[in-house]
Amino acid sequence: MVNHNQKNHSPELYAQPQHKIKIKQIDSHAKEIINNLNKSGFKAYLVGGCIRDLILNKNPKDFDVVTDATPEQIKQTIPRSRIIGRRFKLVHVRKGRKITEVSTFRSKGGKRTSKTNKGIVLKDNFYGTIKEDAFRRDFTINSLYLDIRDMKIIDYTGGFKDLNNRELSCIGDSKLRLREDPIRIIRATRFLCNLDLKLKKSLKKDLINFAHLLQEIPPARRYEEILKLFLTGNAENNFITLLELHILKYLLPITAKQCSNEKHKSFILNALSNSDARVKKGLPLTPAFLFSVLLWPGLTEKVGDINSKKTKLPVLLRSSNIIIKQCRQDCFIPKRIENMIKEIWEFQIKLLKFPPKSKLIFSHRRFRAGYDFLLLREEAGVNLGGAGKWWKENQPNSKRSYQNK
Ligand code: ATP
Ligand code: MG
Repeated sequence: MVNHNQKNHSPELYAQPQHKIKIKQIDSHAKEIINNLNKSGFKAYLVGGCIRDLILNKNPKDFDVVTDATPEQIKQTIPRSRIIGRRFKLVHVRKGRKITEVSTFRSKGGKRTSKTNKGIVLKDNFYGTIKEDAFRRDFTINSLYLDIRDMKIIDYTGGFKDLNNRELSCIGDSKLRLREDPIRIIRATRFLCNLDLKLKKSLKKDLINFAHLLQEIPPARRYEEILKLFLTGNAENNFITLLELHILKYLLPITAKQCSNEKHKSFILNALSNSDARVKKGLPLTPAFLFSVLLWPGLTEKVGDINSKKTKLPVLLRSSNIIIKQCRQDCFIPKRIENMIKEIWEFQIKLLKFPPKSKLIFSHRRFRAGYDFLLLREEAGVNLGGAGKWWKENQPNSKRSYQNK
């Protein structure tokens, strides 16, 4: 049993032969930043997802650095750095197109923390020690620190063992931690699926029981999490798990409701599995295509299946506006993305009219996405009078799909 009690708790240390991370696997920019901070007398470590992923032999998305230097001290020490954030300051260090995030150790704030009456933490932005920083993180596997000077992993919460056992555990009391920040419910699902982890029965129960608190999460934060769930190559699995755990209805109620219809569900799952295949091939994905898929069943409920040449554009547009507005109550969708979604949907009518009046349609910036979407609908068994075949055979040659351009 891991002792999650912070008091009198010294960390486990794991040397390189135990964790097997090689220094050359570490991003050179992050190393440079850490070395600079160390030279100026500060402690600095790699932390979080990058250590977890390296231990699991996966490619980290980014390398986060954490230090005892304040944002102002980091800015003074590291060239090309910029303080960001108002509520809690972080430092972004730019090198070419890459940005490395450097943050100061934080603590949960104890009695100073302010919470809503549902237990959701509103303010927990306090500087702290490395130990406090370790305990304020969400899951044990995300709370490992690597000191690149001696290549030792510092583990206050038992994350290294959990990672080796492929087990997801909250740091501390899961009921409390999920309530404090319900977004952790979504993060848990994502780690579970993406990292192929086991879930303790008690944590599974808590995820289900507290899922309703996701309604309290601001739409902008939900949007970010939805993108992480469905644009990183494991969308189908994530979607299935969210449905199974009855979480989806609190995250994307419109989509979840439509999934009681097997046809709609299999349309979405097929589209997501297609997106996963694109990620594996290194092809891009965009939020607009994702949302055009997730909201399509809700839209067709309003306008009827768009499979005849009779559906009129203004009707479609009106319903598009309604469905996107409804979705906005749960999940922020940027205006730019909204416009792209609508264009993809409009193409579902335009592409039913073939041959087209003008060849210009082929160079429309949303043509490929609209066409890809049409194929997904046909794959789901909708009869579109041979539209997919016609557009496939008659468009200028192109080997790759531009789904998201
Ligand atoms: P990913 O691979 O998706 O980036 P990550 O674990 O690195 O996974 P980030 O959102 O980059 O996720 O967060 C970095 C670290 O910050 C996490 O590893 C975790 O330690 C901590 N963290 C992030 N979100 C929370 C949260 N809601 N509550 C507590 N700690 C969090
Ligand atoms: Mg990360």
